[in-house]
Amino acid sequence: MSSERARNPTRIEFAPATSIPDYLTDEIQAKLAYVDERIVRAQVSSDHILLEVSPWDEAQSAAELEGKVQRVVLSMAKGAFKPKVQILEDHLDRPVSFRQDPMPELLRRGEVSQEADGVYTLGPLLTRLIAFFEDQFLSLAASFDAAPYRFPTLIPARYLERVNYFRAFPHSLTFVTHLREDLDVIDEFSQHAACDQHGLTTPPGSFDTIQTLLSPAVCYHLYFALADKPLPGGQVVATAVGNCFRYEAINLTSLERMWNFTMREVIFVGSKDFVLENRELARQRMAKFFEAIGLAYRVESANDPFFIGEFRKQAAFQSAFQLKFEIRASLPYKDSTLAVGSYNYHQDFFGRSLNISLPDGSPAHTGCVAFGLERIAFAFLAQFGLYPAQWPAQVRAHLPI
Ligand code: ATP
Ligand code: ZN
Repeated sequence: MSSERARNPTRIEFAPATSIPDYLTDEIQAKLAYVDERIVRAQVSSDHILLEVSPWDEAQSAAELEGKVQRVVLSMAKGAFKPKVQILEDHLDRPVSFRQDPMPELLRRGEVSQEADGVYTLGPLLTRLIAFFEDQFLSLAASFDAAPYRFPTLIPARYLERVNYFRAFPHSLTFVTHLREDLDVIDEFSQHAACDQHGLTTPPGSFDTIQTLLSPAVCYHLYFALADKPLPGGQVVATAVGNCFRYEAINLTSLERMWNFTMREVIFVGSKDFVLENRELARQRMAKFFEAIGLAYRVESANDPFFIGEFRKQAAFQSAFQLKFEIRASLPYKDSTLAVGSYNYHQDFFGRSLNISLPDGSPAHTGCVAFGLERIAFAFLAQFGLYPAQWPAQVRAHLPI
């Protein structure tokens, strides 16, 4: 293996096995979080990879680690096509009044408390701000006459298998289990379960087979409820808010990337035209709201964070068919943007996989408009600061602050 490895106890540097195009450096960097448990930070540029690893003593394992990283690089970068990024709206130059990272001040004030990596408690300022955004999303849902739903936080493994989730996003799954229904197992657990710095240690064989996971998205639950039958009335519009879970390893940072977050979705099921027209209408209605509050953002085509083996094929497919557009809000403090929501079209993927049929017998098409509640509030604070007196009047008017 050719490498110019400059090594010290915590840094490994080498050249990627194939040059990485600029548009893939962030995607590949994000995936390196899942390559080896010893990696605590990764930095990827087109011709250079830097890993910071927790200390270890086996000399030859650096080569093994590099080998795994190169597998990711080759699988994602070799023969990749540059996606044509389509920009539907560009309001990144809207003037905003704040330029700092809100996170340190939020932590200092106790507005945010971290329970674990990616798991946060939010205080009254954020909770009220989220309620304000929720009101707007509910108005959007009402404008489509969307039926309200409540979905569970757990999701059965057999459903996720049916929609190919294990193949597409294995890295971010979160599993749920319980103790086996056996008096000895429960007694043993109650006497010996204990937490150390690595987590909970339990007697071997305590847990039952996994039947459920924590839900990674909201709209899936609607599709499961509609599965294996004709679609009532030929079309459905629904809305729901729910806890979602995506394990994002060392990428879990501040409110930008959480393990446990909440999403509000408006979901469209029906013919292709019905779904695409409503997705577009939703975008136009949201554009008016974002303009009213002065949010700096852009809407551009994007792809889902598919895992390594599926990435190249699926990302190219999503971009060729314009299946996903993200609302990327400006984060002035880091000259960057953050996806606070997305406009998605799944074609007839769920209709086919779950056997949801239209009156003519063909599979239903689906789409959703999804907003990350913590992220929209975080991006707003990053643009307007933590003092409501300095917020745009349209927001202040709605808040009891
Ligand atoms: P689809 O149904 O097409 O797969 P989705 O409904 O799963 O899409 P995403 O686009 O994957 O929706 O996510 C919607 C929004 O949820 C994102 O734009 C973002 O705001 C928020 N979000 C996603 N992952 C996280 C995370 N780890 N932490 C915080 N917010 C997140
Ligand atoms: Zn969705």
